[in-house]
Amino acid sequence: MTPTGPPPTVTAAISSRPYAAQQPEWPDPAQVREVTDLLRDLPPLVSPAETARVRARLAEAATGNALLLQGGHCAEEFGARALREATANAVLLRQMATVLSYGTTLPVLPVGRMAGQYAKPRSRPTETREGMELPSYRGDAVNAAGFSARERRPAPRRMVTAYYQSAEVLHRIRAGNAVRPDVPGATEAAVEGPVEDLYVSHEALLLDYERALVRTDPATGGRYASSGHLLWIGERTRQVDGAHVEFAAGVDNPVAVKVGPTATPDELLALAAALDPGMRPGRLTFVSRMGADRIREVLPELVGKVAASGSPALWVCDPMHGNTRTTEDGAKTRWMSDITDEVRAFIAVHRAIGTHPGGLHLELTADDVTECLGGSTPVRPEDLDRHYTSVCDPRLNRGQSLDLAFFAAHLWGT
Ligand code: PEP
Ligand code: MN
Repeated sequence: MTPTGPPPTVTAAISSRPYAAQQPEWPDPAQVREVTDLLRDLPPLVSPAETARVRARLAEAATGNALLLQGGHCAEEFGARALREATANAVLLRQMATVLSYGTTLPVLPVGRMAGQYAKPRSRPTETREGMELPSYRGDAVNAAGFSARERRPAPRRMVTAYYQSAEVLHRIRAGNAVRPDVPGATEAAVEGPVEDLYVSHEALLLDYERALVRTDPATGGRYASSGHLLWIGERTRQVDGAHVEFAAGVDNPVAVKVGPTATPDELLALAAALDPGMRPGRLTFVSRMGADRIREVLPELVGKVAASGSPALWVCDPMHGNTRTTEDGAKTRWMSDITDEVRAFIAVHRAIGTHPGGLHLELTADDVTECLGGSTPVRPEDLDRHYTSVCDPRLNRGQSLDLAFFAAHLWGT
């Protein structure tokens, strides 16, 4: 039969869509469609009003009048234990925010890497152990961390579980926000001032999931990502012509971008133009993750040129991801001394330029893990395998997190 009508242009439209790095190879596209159709019908996880409030708070930080404290697991996990951990992590974040706020006399906005941190970028698509090669673990929204073919197979239904697990975590966070039972010895009135409500953030990596959760704000008609309040783009997916930047440019949430030591001033200016063309404080945050050994050399030019362009972007310091080291036994770890050194350098760079060092982005847990080294109750290299439970990067434990909060309060306050 002779085809009628012009050839469809669908192929061209799809192929002109920007490239999406770090996406899973789903085995069954039909199942992905089924799942994303389902997600599209579910209620938003966060409201546009909450999201706008976070943006307004971040605007205060961007203008030098507040700090952002972002923290949580590298990769959240599914299940009941993770829910208990989320509650404990929320308490820890609020305590750290209190410490930082008293030390700096600035309001501190606590934002969890929580209720959505279920997708991970990986440096290699596969992992080989004892001669067996399997897909890398890409976060619980994609596959399971265990090393078997069954667990590592990407399963689209996991995106539905990610939604419901996020809802459960948010439920607990909102209950904590309402009651604030967690600041020892503090009365309701005393905590009213320093401690703000806790909000949530994650890396907007898994685009099938994120796109399916975009909603229209009935009040303004704007589009917002309803998967979390603050979303960030990772170091591996921040290509200015890539699909992640396109996604973030199309939503009204506050957005952040991780910035590593290979970033150029022109890249950051292009990102600022794409993500914050209106130059509105609170919309865009740059998360500097340079490493203690590179930050002094690399950060000044980036901060200076972004500021000179008129961009009001907020800068915060992630002193974790540039300081990952692998031990002789193959364990990933980070030293508290590198972490504190990077924070010190971050503040010094901003003070020298006259910009505001706007806060911290940390990987931490309230659990007593032995993943990062050092601290006032030191974890030593020989302790590492005692309680190393992270399915991805090493996190500060409770003591190390509080050490860092006091250290940061001291640095910011002087
Ligand atoms: C992360 O935050 O866990 C992460 C992968 O960071 P980055 O994109 O900065 O490497
Ligand atoms: Mn990480």
